[in-house]
Amino acid sequence: MNEIVYLDNAATTKLSKAAQEAVQPYLSGAYGNPSSVYSLGREAKKAVENARSRVAQAIGALPHEIYFTGSGTESDNWAVKSVAELKKGLGRHIISSQIEHPAILNTLRHLEKNGYDVTYLKVNQYGQISLDELRSAIRNDTVLITIMTANNEIGTILPVSEIGKIAQENGVLFHTDAVQAVGHIPVNVKEMNVDIMSFSGHKFGGTKGVGVLYAKKELKLPPFLHGGGQENDRRSGTENVAGIVALAAALEEALLNLPLLKVSQMRDRLIVELLKIPRSRLTGDPLNRLPGIASFIFECIEGEAMLLLLDQCGICASSGSACSSGSLDPSHVLLATGLSHEIAHGSLRLSLSGENTDDDIDYVLEKLPGIVARLRAMSPL
Ligand SMILES: *Cc1c(COP(=O)(O)O)cnc(C)c1O
Repeated sequence: MNEIVYLDNAATTKLSKAAQEAVQPYLSGAYGNPSSVYSLGREAKKAVENARSRVAQAIGALPHEIYFTGSGTESDNWAVKSVAELKKGLGRHIISSQIEHPAILNTLRHLEKNGYDVTYLKVNQYGQISLDELRSAIRNDTVLITIMTANNEIGTILPVSEIGKIAQENGVLFHTDAVQAVGHIPVNVKEMNVDIMSFSGHKFGGTKGVGVLYAKKELKLPPFLHGGGQENDRRSGTENVAGIVALAAALEEALLNLPLLKVSQMRDRLIVELLKIPRSRLTGDPLNRLPGIASFIFECIEGEAMLLLLDQCGICASSGSACSSGSLDPSHVLLATGLSHEIAHGSLRLSLSGENTDDDIDYVLEKLPGIVARLRAMSPL
């Protein structure tokens, strides 16, 4: 088998067919600057505004509540920093969780160095926060709750609507990093009671380097990038027209495919079969989990070694998060779920998409048990 079996869709996805088609004109003839007055420019402007309306529609928002950014990371930075800035007269306390993506955690650490106080809610073995703990963590000076919709490493889906309701009842703004959720499970900003939400095109079949920030219309977010006044004067810089068009097309295609029943069936087959390997366990929530994420611990194994042997078989997977691979620190998410350092090292994440087939799953099930056995035979543990 020379083909690649790609099981790292939580890191990034292949460009979807719809996105590939939609993007073509903007990579060739339709290269105008959306700010220009002549028709080539107006055509680009129309494409961006059309994409904005469709993205808004897809998440239950209004077009002027959608801002295009350069990544999910940028959207997270913008959301957290600008609410902190906007509300600093009212207080400097922020509530988050221990399992956020580094785009949130490192932004919060930066704010902590600048006089903000952050409460990181702990999670249980499944990666779930306690809503009671959230309620008790809210103080007079709390200005923001930022908790992700679904976790990228263990696939746990968090109770976002309930969190949003608690935020509303207490007059606190609620931001959610929905990068792993949008295009994978139904996401509606009204039903989720969110005020601000981040997501990213390349996690659902768009191109890399385009993100979205939703901010409800009542929120007058301060500008994040100062310049020529693009994106309603909030995020200047000539628009990534091709990427924005691709994102809208990919999102619509992804939503047509919901619910991802076939994907969750493949996920469940991986889970059932791989848990037959001795001293293996599932990480994340067994019930409330993303359709595409099967994540495991294989005790007495180094995750990085597993990835190299899988790669030799043409299988792309991940251990911990791609962002921290190359470092020997075990994943902060797995540690937060109560696993020891030693055990957390043996993690494996297989993340699927609609592009995967039953043959891919058969192939992994054929190869992985042998790889685990081989590594254990070599392990000093
Ligand atoms: C991938 C990811 C991000 C970062 O998005 P980029 O577009 O790659 O910057 C943020 N949060 C979560 C949960 C992610 O999975």
